[in-house]
Amino acid sequence: MQEFNLSPDLYDYDLVVIGGGSGGLAAAKEAAMYGKKVVVLDYVTPTPKGTTWGLGGTCVNVGCIPKKLMHQAAILGQAIRDSQRYGWELQEKGKKVSHNWSSMRQAVQDHIGSLRFGYSKALRDSKVTYMNAYGEFVGPHQIKATNSKGKETFYTAAAFIIATGERPRYLGIPGDKEYCITSDDLFSLPQSPGRTLVVGASYVALECAGFLAGLGLDISVMVRSILLRGFDQQMANKIGEHMEQHGVTFIRQFVPTKVEQIEEGSPGKLKVTAKSTDGKETFEGEYNTVLLAIGRDACTRTIGLDTVGVKVNVKTGKIPVNEEEQTNVPHVYAIGDVLEGKLELTPVAIQAGRLLARRLYTEHSTKCDYTNVPTTVFTPLEYGACGLSEEDSIQKYGEDNVEVYHSNFWPLEWTVPARDNNTCYAKIICHKQDSERVVGFHVLGPNAGEMTQGFAAAMKCGMTKEQLDNTIGIHPVCAEVFTTLSVTKRSGGDIAKGGC
Ligand SMILES: Cc1cc2nc3c(=O)[nH]c(=O)nc-3n(C[C@H](O)[C@H](O)[C@H](O)COP(=O)(O)OP(=O)(O)OC[C@H]3O[C@@H](n4cnc5c(N)ncnc54)[C@H](O)[C@@H]3O)c2cc1C
Repeated sequence: MQEFNLSPDLYDYDLVVIGGGSGGLAAAKEAAMYGKKVVVLDYVTPTPKGTTWGLGGTCVNVGCIPKKLMHQAAILGQAIRDSQRYGWELQEKGKKVSHNWSSMRQAVQDHIGSLRFGYSKALRDSKVTYMNAYGEFVGPHQIKATNSKGKETFYTAAAFIIATGERPRYLGIPGDKEYCITSDDLFSLPQSPGRTLVVGASYVALECAGFLAGLGLDISVMVRSILLRGFDQQMANKIGEHMEQHGVTFIRQFVPTKVEQIEEGSPGKLKVTAKSTDGKETFEGEYNTVLLAIGRDACTRTIGLDTVGVKVNVKTGKIPVNEEEQTNVPHVYAIGDVLEGKLELTPVAIQAGRLLARRLYTEHSTKCDYTNVPTTVFTPLEYGACGLSEEDSIQKYGEDNVEVYHSNFWPLEWTVPARDNNTCYAKIICHKQDSERVVGFHVLGPNAGEMTQGFAAAMKCGMTKEQLDNTIGIHPVCAEVFTTLSVTKRSGGDIAKGGC
């Protein structure tokens, strides 16, 4: 780490954190725990539709939390359908079970409100100063904080952490900002989005499409090229197939060119014009809602990084840092989604923030380890992954040095309702030369995140195929499949399995 003057006497604060999301709050509270004088600036620029929210950042307000709760709402719909095969009788026979968007939205927003309250209290308890203001560097050690009324306050600090996260990207076509929404608007939408076109193939696109379809809505997904870029493509394609089998329409190799309003109201009606990526075909469709989920841009362009001399990747807006999350300017650090080449996940931002503050203000030297970070895509068929994709394993170790073990499986719970036979799938990728160490773990099935978390800890400890084989399974659960994997992809053996 390059040295700089941490003396608090010269400045108003020891630390200014710009951005009160997952990473920023974690870093601020940790620094305050060591007696440091800390201020957090957090400000949400409203979306073009005017949606805004409070403290806590993306995860709690417009990300992980509302997304997982709405995914759960969809899963409950499936459970209601399954329940009849388990003997549950609907109270009024023949009456269709329906879903009420407003009730769900209210319950989800109430929960978010309670989490936000907890965050502000935690800051107060830790004696961290919180300012609902937009931060912008105006000097090497000085920041300007502008509140919603335009009032400007200036602070100096010994050190700064940039934790400003990302916001959804727009298409840059006529009508996009005027008529389309993004995930920043979806979770607080007052009325059901109705017939929806989701544009994009990111995990945010597929998760939103998945739970909206699960709530019974007519959902189409417009995809320019592949699904879930960066993820294992076999798994990504299986997710797409499952969604298609469950009523989601995929419009592949098309990009929207224009969005027009053809009927006012809530939700009203929009006409989308699109062209195929080879330019030969045109598509027109009418939807109540168009949800853009084509990627997110780092919030780094308007925070005065030029003034302080922090280098940014001009193309992506991402901030390159060394392995201590230090930018090219020694007293300016960055964590979370703004970082170049790092995973954009809440626990990653939190871990990086905590460890950074610990290293800055104590003798600790532990750095954030960005390898083997587990993650889950909450599509209707959930996908848990840790380590390398099959493509990346082959690229890294060579095809001959990689052994892939796999199996389909049928969760016992799904056998009685007789649904989705053999759509769940387990795969591990082993490095042959390294005692068949597991370098990639992939699972498609219910509660995939719960399964993946434990195996991720084992992978941190260097889990091998032999150790998995020596582990006695828990019967009858889905994760048991990982203790009995015997068929390799190379062998081309039969991987169909009955219920556990
Ligand atoms: C729909 C969706 C679903 C997701 N689901 C998951 C999931 O299931 N699991 C998971 O791990 N991750 C998920 N994520 C990603 C996760 O939300 C992010 O990785 C995480 O929030 C990043 O934290 P951060 O601290 O870098 O930024 P954020 O949490 O985005 O916080 C940044 C904060 O800084 C504020 N800000 C920006 N500029 C300024 C400024 N100049 N001054 C003051 N404040 C500013 C922003 O308004 C925001 O409040 C999801 C994201 C989305 C969009």
